[in-house]
This record gives sequence, C-alpha cells and structure tokens, in this order.
Amino acid sequence: MAKEDAVTVNALVRQALVAAQEVMGENGLNAVLRASGLEHFVGNFPPNDLNPSIQASQYARFNAAIEEFYGRGGRGMLKRIGKASFEYGMREQSALLGIAAGAALKLLPERQKIKFILNQVAGALKKTNPQVEAWVDDSGERVAYLESTCAICQGRASQTPVCHLYVGSIGEAVRWATGREHEIIETQCIARGDPHCRFEVGDAKDA
Ligand SMILES: [Zn+2]
Repeated sequence: MAKEDAVTVNALVRQALVAAQEVMGENGLNAVLRASGLEHFVGNFPPNDLNPSIQASQYARFNAAIEEFYGRGGRGMLKRIGKASFEYGMREQSALLGIAAGAALKLLPERQKIKFILNQVAGALKKTNPQVEAWVDDSGERVAYLESTCAICQGRASQTPVCHLYVGSIGEAVRWATGREHEIIETQCIARGDPHCRFEVGDAKDA
C-alpha cells in the first residue's frame, strides 16, 4: 500500500510543468491539466521546494492525459517533455544533481560516464523524496536504471511500457554525460505488472 500513498514533491511537479509548457505551449498544457483533474495548477505552478505536491497516481494521470491528448504523437511529446525536464533540472537543480564533478567525466570510459550520471539522477531523486527507490543495475550487457516507485505509471495498466517521459529524461542525462545520443529502451514497467520500471541504455545512435 505504501506505493499507493506515494507523493510527488513540489519541485518535481514544477519541473514537469515548466518542461511541458515549453514543449506543448500554455494552451496545450492547460487543456491537459484540466483533463487530468489538475486545473488548480493552471497559471499557478507549485513552488520550487520539497513539500508534498500531489499523489503519484495524479502525476500518472497527467502523463496519461498527454498521451491521450496527442494520440499517436503522444509518446514523442512525452519524450520531448522528459528531455526538457532534465534540462530544467540541470539549470535549476544542478547542486542536487551533484554534477559539479562534470569536468572529470571526460576522462572516463563511456560506460562509466553512463553509470555516473544515472547514479546522480537516482541519488537526486532520493534526496528530494526518501520514499523513492531508484537504482542502477550494472550487471548486464547494458547499463540499466530502475525505479520501483515510478510515479509516471502509478495506478496505470498497459500491455506495453508507458513511462515515455522518463525515457526522455534518461536519454538527455546520458547525452549530457557522453556527448552522444543513445537509444533508451523501457524493458519493464509497473503498468505492465512488473515489479519496477527498467530503462536500458542501448547503443549510441551514431555508432
Ligand atoms: Zn513507470
């Protein structure tokens, strides 16, 4: 039941709303907010703090509403919002992400760079909310990022993975760390009945 009661903190909701507005425009965002029962955020974003904002299931509904609103384009839209969301995080929360050590990254092999940034992302999320369970799995052929408290798919059911916003954020994080676009594949998703969402970092697209 703990998962049902999970909350998403203000700073993360604000980050997602700023990113969504950048990508969808104000009218698009407002339509989606109204469709997902979050009209109180219209013209009224939450503050940049770590207080509880909304239930994870409400955040999931917001994601689902974007997919419905844009139909076949929804998936790409969510990935773009995820990318913009990571960029916002880099601008506004770089201390939280602990990326001051970024210069030393250049010397690391690519796999180490990927592990570094994904560990930073997991650590930053845990700092914002102690309920979050996110980690990096380095045991397979591909480095993977996992979260068992993923708010994007909370309460949703689907035969295919639905956390496209997360795919976009992870892709941008990996691009930032390695300088190259990598394919990110969500191989497991809580919406599908898996115990966690799993995002594998595939080959670089220019390789
Ligand atoms: Zn998920």
